[in-house]
Amino acid sequence: MMRHSTVFERHAPSESAVTESLRSTRSSVFWLEDAPSVDRPQLAGSHSADLTVVGGGYTGLWTAVLAKRRDPSARVVLLEAQTIGWAASGRNGGFAEASLTHGEDNGRARWPDEYDTLERLGLENLDAIERDVTELGMDVQLERTGTLDVAYEPHQVEWLREAEHGEFLDRDAVQAAIASPIFAAGRRIEGHGALVHPGRLATELARVAADLGVEIFEHSAVTGLRNRSGGVAVETVRGVVHSAKVALGTNVFRPLLRRARLSTVPVYDYVLMSEPLSDVQRADLGWRGREGVSDLANQFHYSRLTADHRILYGGYDAVYHAGRRVRPEYEERQESYRTLASHFLTTYPQLEGLGFSHQWAGAIDTSTQFCAFHGLARRGRVAYAAGFTGLGVAATRFAAEVMLDRLAGESTPRTQLDMVRKKPLPFPPEPFAKIGIEATKWSLDRADHRQGQRNLLLRTLDRLGLGFDS
Ligand SMILES: Cc1cc2nc3c(=O)[nH]c(=O)nc-3n(C[C@H](O)[C@H](O)[C@H](O)COP(=O)(O)OP(=O)(O)OC[C@H]3O[C@@H](n4cnc5c(N)ncnc54)[C@H](O)[C@@H]3O)c2cc1C
Repeated sequence: MMRHSTVFERHAPSESAVTESLRSTRSSVFWLEDAPSVDRPQLAGSHSADLTVVGGGYTGLWTAVLAKRRDPSARVVLLEAQTIGWAASGRNGGFAEASLTHGEDNGRARWPDEYDTLERLGLENLDAIERDVTELGMDVQLERTGTLDVAYEPHQVEWLREAEHGEFLDRDAVQAAIASPIFAAGRRIEGHGALVHPGRLATELARVAADLGVEIFEHSAVTGLRNRSGGVAVETVRGVVHSAKVALGTNVFRPLLRRARLSTVPVYDYVLMSEPLSDVQRADLGWRGREGVSDLANQFHYSRLTADHRILYGGYDAVYHAGRRVRPEYEERQESYRTLASHFLTTYPQLEGLGFSHQWAGAIDTSTQFCAFHGLARRGRVAYAAGFTGLGVAATRFAAEVMLDRLAGESTPRTQLDMVRKKPLPFPPEPFAKIGIEATKWSLDRADHRQGQRNLLLRTLDRLGLGFDS
């Protein structure tokens, strides 16, 4: 099949327009600048706890909050290596989606018999987040906007037309919703998605946890877990917490359990945040439904509005560095920011002249099943959950409930799920991980240039349950 150029190649803006849009951009995470921060102590000396939570992202924070809700008298300690929410939880797109399985196709393909239950539990989880936000008075700018999937290419229009949920929008209808000349069709799905301010979700969860009595320590990287009679010693460089139970929410970072070492790879995702739009720009653009928008390409983009009328625009490039490392220098990839700026101007040419104030990147917690896995180790004393593959804003709360169910030894509808009981295949060790990921990325890009046609590698991966269809 012939190689087709994509809409972003056919309608690329001038190099000078891209350069101009990035003239005053600084490398900093908007969401973290826009969230209140509190200095918290470092762990020192010897402590004891009923539950020690490792990781101050959403997984760890929800686990701590829900543990105190289940048993207000429990002594709960949370240890964070750097600061609350600094990693993926403070730098994501803020799309809080009901799906626990990274979408219906992935969920139905892997767990056909229990998919309906998974969908219901995912919706209940999103409702529970909304209820918690209200009841706990959390200022996280939650908006139950729903989502809008958009198509640029003819084969994507067909995919949208055939989809089941939501309302199909033809070219006129989608462009009436959001004025972009490249949108050829859309599908609006209500009820399954919300938007939040990611940084504030982390800091507000920490505030609530502290109010409930959780002891939070920052700059307290856990260096090891040692079995002790009646529990586990959770060690940092300057302290130790003797714990009856431990919950690990360490995401893409080096796992503390050897068995989880090959379960995730960090894949870097890049984001731009625009300056606030003027009233005229907002009127021209429409977007009154404020939906979270994503497109259907394999290398997809996502975008959304903020409370102060900026546009967040991210995605497309996904970069894996051999060796599974998470390093600040990987965030400085100017070619990815230029690509994003160029694609933004193709999508919204009427916004030429609008600058980007912030650029940042983060590591996507990728697992081979493209959604979280859950585990229990050390004779039921240590629970873990990771691998949300870029869809963890809402699913982390569900993972926290699973960890607490299992640490309590309870059998619940959550713990009985195959999705929870069975582990995904590991990634291969290096150099095969790097070679495999690069080959898959090349194939995905090729599919986007060939009307979505998946090549032999992708079809083989699909059959093995390893295919990535965004
Ligand atoms: C750019 C980007 C965009 C994304 N967009 C979306 C989106 O729109 N919607 C969505 O649903 N998901 C999105 N995601 C994914 C989502 O952000 C994550 O799935 C979610 O935040 C995972 O939360 P977590 O708590 O498991 O991990 P993290 O937020 O990464 O937190 C893990 C924490 O553990 C700490 N830690 C690790 N090891 C140790 C140790 N040994 N001792 C102490 N602390 C330790 C780390 O310092 C870190 O703070 C995105 C991710 C990125 C990077």
